[in-house]
Amino acid sequence: MSDDAQLHGKVALVTGANRGIGLAISKKFLEAGAYVALTGRRIDRLKVLGNATERAIAVQLDVTDQKESLTAIQEVFQHFGRIDILVNNAGINTIMRFVDLDIETWDNIFKVNVYGVFLVTKAIVPLMIRQGGGKIINIASQAGKAGEAFNSTYSASKSAIVGLTQALARELGPYNITVNAICPGPVETDMMTSALIHFGELHGVSPEVHRTNLVDNIPIGRFLLPEDVATTVVFLASDAANGITGASIPVTGGMTMW
Ligand code: NDP
Repeated sequence: MSDDAQLHGKVALVTGANRGIGLAISKKFLEAGAYVALTGRRIDRLKVLGNATERAIAVQLDVTDQKESLTAIQEVFQHFGRIDILVNNAGINTIMRFVDLDIETWDNIFKVNVYGVFLVTKAIVPLMIRQGGGKIINIASQAGKAGEAFNSTYSASKSAIVGLTQALARELGPYNITVNAICPGPVETDMMTSALIHFGELHGVSPEVHRTNLVDNIPIGRFLLPEDVATTVVFLASDAANGITGASIPVTGGMTMW
């Protein structure tokens, strides 16, 4: 546990926690003294961290499955007795031309990135209201603010999360629940590795050249690390951020600044 243990005794639930940004958030939460429910579709991978400390559990949760959402949240609530922090992190992406886009792809992305956030949030908010408060942090994307070519469905889905964040911040503020989003730029994860290949193809360059082109537009001169996002999530989940709600914070290395 780190010295400042900003989240000592708090209970957090993270979706899509088995790899990438979700895993980094879960680890930083544990370092900050929180109890963590690592949730996701692949329980075996979650158990690696979920069994490593008594402050963590691994719980099966496909965010598109309403029944599983309710069961998982009940399980976490019964285990820890409360849920103070929800991080809606699970997300997917498909890079393609708009003219090639089909309705199944559109629906699939919206099911995970928007419907999934709706389902899990809807199941947890009544618990937070009964508890007297909570913190909800949605992992959106800079694509939801600036829009990205060949990434239209994803951009639209993340814009929906920015709007939902603002609406819920207004509606849930009176219950002492803050709702914020983080809008990361390019982060070094499996999602980005795959995106670089497909963006490269569509721009007619190699993944390496596409990466260099992106880095040229990032003032700090590098892609973000999952830990860059995770430390911002820890801050938003802490009492230090009690005055912040409805924000969509860019963690982009300056690529977008709003
Ligand atoms: P990864 O692809 O590395 O990980 C995505 C995670 O989401 C995995 O744990 C995956 O689980 C999980 N997931 C996908 N679908 C579901 C589902 N139906 N139910 C539960 N879990 C699911 O992506 P990142 O870590 O990069 O992305 C995390 C979040 O950050 C996403 O919301 C993404 O949109 C956002 N983001 C990422 C950026 C980047 O550059 N990487 C930039 C901006 C935003 P499984 O292993 O089972 O597939």
